[in-house]
Amino acid sequence: MATPELLPLFDTIAQCNRCGFCQAGCPVFRVTGEEHSLARGRQAIARSLILGTMELSKEVIEALEDCLLCRGCTAHCFPGIKTDEIVTAMRHAYLKRHGQPAWRRLLFRNILSDSRKLEFAGRMALWAKRHGLATAMAKSGLLGGPKSRLNVVNRVLPRMEAPPFLRGEKDSVPRPGKVLHRVGYFASCGLSFQYPEVVGATHRVLARLGCEITILDNTCCGRPAHSYGDLDAARDVARKNLDRMAGAMELDVILSECGSCSTFLKEYGTLLKDDAAYAGKAEALSRKVRSFSEFLVATGSVQGLGALEGSVTYHDPCHLSNRFGKITAQPRQLLKSVPGLHYRELPEADWCCGAAGSYTFLHHEEAKGVLDRKIANVAKTGAQVLATECPACMMHLEYGARRAGLPVQVRHLSQVLDEAFQAAEA
Ligand code: SF4
Ligand code: SF4
Repeated sequence: MATPELLPLFDTIAQCNRCGFCQAGCPVFRVTGEEHSLARGRQAIARSLILGTMELSKEVIEALEDCLLCRGCTAHCFPGIKTDEIVTAMRHAYLKRHGQPAWRRLLFRNILSDSRKLEFAGRMALWAKRHGLATAMAKSGLLGGPKSRLNVVNRVLPRMEAPPFLRGEKDSVPRPGKVLHRVGYFASCGLSFQYPEVVGATHRVLARLGCEITILDNTCCGRPAHSYGDLDAARDVARKNLDRMAGAMELDVILSECGSCSTFLKEYGTLLKDDAAYAGKAEALSRKVRSFSEFLVATGSVQGLGALEGSVTYHDPCHLSNRFGKITAQPRQLLKSVPGLHYRELPEADWCCGAAGSYTFLHHEEAKGVLDRKIANVAKTGAQVLATECPACMMHLEYGARRAGLPVQVRHLSQVLDEAFQAAEA
């Protein structure tokens, strides 16, 4: 049976001339060496599905699940085919026809779309991790064998000892002496629970630059559902966020220091373009969104940084790389502006680290291969600090450094800048 749902993509897929140049940029293909892991192989599968010479079966969709959606292939592809969009469309077509596992349906349609349930689930996970319950269960075998999904999650997650950042704690947001910018803060799930110290650093940096911060009442941005092909759930989450953030349209800017969230919010206009009730609101919101370093450099107000010692390098999260958000010069400019801190460029800085949201939990062997290449490049720089702007990248890079025994400190860019401001104030 053919897959007519993919027919609108046929002209794009037909541009693939099978040259194989995408091999040079695909982190997964470098690990597996499998044709189906390569953009060329994924175009061939899509073409066969449209022509009906291949069934949209469980085996086919499992073969497509090892795509990071990173667009490393696109950068090497002469026609510039966005393989991530083709893979997402195939995942969506499969899901529409065969449904999705109950845990994903529950996660995308009930938990991620409701910030209260999301906070409750996050608190439970934190409690288990912090009280050693997860580790004790892993040791006792209750989480399954060493390669079981829960064991992998327990190994990869950071320690998470600080209290989470919760929206009710608005009093903790510092006030600027003089208000220059009114900023709506979009709290990322990953940072709120895994790295609340980054949230604190971001708020302090913004307050020093004259930003009055309004904590928005958002839930998940919707990217996880979109990546798994549940486009209906992603659109539903986007509509909920638009309703809950309606007041933010009065502010100067909507900001998130999570590169994946900020880039996905910028895509709301495209995501809801066919929804007559929301298309205009979505487009307006997308225009108002800025990533952290993008906003800081645009305001031109980062001055008065104190000196820090040592060396730093920077990993580009995929969604801020030149293949997506194109926010690459700004973080480097900011790091280079810290007196005393030596900037060292990272080889293959924009290659995916293998985290890709929850990819590392589901395809851990491939993710480890991708991560080992990244960490080997970090080691070549000899930098003491590895900065980035994405919680999933931070989590995976820390895990990679632990695995390799590399004594590099993984920090969010906002933490580096916060330290530099504190050095000036000391
Ligand atoms: S680089 Fe582009 S055109 Fe060439 S094989 Fe890969 S996907 Fe096809
Ligand atoms: S999006 Fe990334 S993982 Fe997927 S085929 Fe392209 S380079 Fe490979």
